Amino acid sequence: MKPDLFESPDYYNLDDLLTDEHKLVRSATRAWVKRDVSPIIEDYAQKAEFPMQIIGGLADIGAFGPYIPEEYGGSGLDQISYGLMMQEIERGDSGIRSTASVQSSLVMYPIWKYGNETQRQKYLPKLASGEWMGCFGLTEPDHGSNPSEMVTNFKVKGDHYLLNGAKMWISNAPFAQLAVVWAKDENNRIHGLIVERGMEGFSTPETHNKWSLRASATGELIFDNVKVPKENILPNKSGLGAPLGCLDSARYGIAWGVIGAAMDCYDTALRYSKERMQFGKPIGQFQLQQKKLAEMITEITKAQLLTWRLGVLRNEGKATSAQISMAKRNNVNMAINIAREARQILGGMGITGEYSIMRHSMNLESVITYEGTHDIHLLITGLDITGLNAFK
Ligand SMILES: Cc1cc2nc3c(=O)[nH]c(=O)nc-3n(C[C@H](O)[C@H](O)[C@H](O)COP(=O)(O)OP(=O)(O)OC[C@H]3O[C@@H](n4cnc5c(N)ncnc54)[C@H](O)[C@@H]3O)c2cc1C
Repeated sequence: MKPDLFESPDYYNLDDLLTDEHKLVRSATRAWVKRDVSPIIEDYAQKAEFPMQIIGGLADIGAFGPYIPEEYGGSGLDQISYGLMMQEIERGDSGIRSTASVQSSLVMYPIWKYGNETQRQKYLPKLASGEWMGCFGLTEPDHGSNPSEMVTNFKVKGDHYLLNGAKMWISNAPFAQLAVVWAKDENNRIHGLIVERGMEGFSTPETHNKWSLRASATGELIFDNVKVPKENILPNKSGLGAPLGCLDSARYGIAWGVIGAAMDCYDTALRYSKERMQFGKPIGQFQLQQKKLAEMITEITKAQLLTWRLGVLRNEGKATSAQISMAKRNNVNMAINIAREARQILGGMGITGEYSIMRHSMNLESVITYEGTHDIHLLITGLDITGLNAFK
């Protein structure tokens, strides 16, 4: 792969809206990505393998629990710092950002928000340091967009629960030490359970044959009469709102993250357009190529503004789930379109692993689907503005 020459576009001087801390977090994350991710990521994506050696680095830059309080091992940062960190990591690769998102928003967040103090003390420091990795089991083979119909369930059996069922498409599953698993009790109410690797009847087979997020490990979670100690239930929230609360935090991170992927594609295409000569001119001098680049920077700038504002609302505790849905949907779509256009600017070179664009393009096909599909987020906006529920 070519050397990482990335320079981030800031067409509307949005850096003026950031604090020194925001910029510091961003530059530290960017430096780490350039040093530890860019040189190896293409190789790992080609091999379809998660680079386990970067876990320590992710922990060191604070990517596991950026907004979790420091007393639990997190970094205690605000939501804009968290967003900028996700942007920089996804600029490197969506799969690496997925690992960080899952660990922070889908594993640490529910333990922090819905767990008791004993659970927080037991798990959060280990997860923040990367000593333990976690995964989040909501999706099932027959229940994706509608998790309320999940069949994974647990029954009380003396001093423990007996957990049965299966989850599918679970990021980090093949190497995670623990899983936050969403399952129904005997009254059909959804709860979060902490399931640890090594519990009898719990297995995590890896999912192969992916053309997308190849540098992220995906797997199933199988529960065959798994005995889960009663103290492993998350006591402070139940019902579908509990997993959806985690998804708000992760979707917010995605809205920022994909700007990173889009910026990388734009930056690569812009540089290439000034260097590649055809018909005696740099291809960037042709109006058709300028149209593509001009539209890309316009869309990136709009997404940056949308997301910064959402970050301010999150910091004030005012962002609604529907606002987060809008940003996730808009920004992933923006990024996928930019990746496609950028790839064309590179001509034949665009399909190779010499450049990051094709990898981003393939990765974004998962990002547009997971954590609520493009269609589902549109219906959430539709419900919010009309008050009429298209899901029923
Ligand atoms: C690489 C990867 C990693 C993932 N990681 C995780 C993870 O860590 N944890 C986890 O729990 N899940 C994870 N997922 C699962 C992901 O969240 C689901 O794939 C997603 O929610 C969609 O579910 P589905 O694939 O079953 O699609 P379906 O729900 O079957 O949807 C198929 C199509 O139907 C459309 N559709 C569904 N319902 C409606 C409707 N009411 N109106 C209109 N259209 C509709 C959808 O938009 C979609 O286009 C991951 C997925 C991938 C691909």
